[in-house]
Amino acid sequence: MKLKKIFRSIRSLKSASGNARLCLACGNTPTREALFNVGEELAPIERYCDTCMIKIN
Ligand SMILES: [Zn+2]
Repeated sequence: MKLKKIFRSIRSLKSASGNARLCLACGNTPTREALFNVGEELAPIERYCDTCMIKIN
């Protein structure tokens, strides 16, 4: 059985310093982070740049 990933919300990424991670889709500097639910659980936050966030959203 495959769990479905359900989009929950987006929030702005204030600063990409420190524990910076790259956009999951293209590797650029991320500006947004997305929260998903997988099954009953909250999935780890995924970070994307503006361009890729539009595709996901
Ligand atoms: Zn991207």
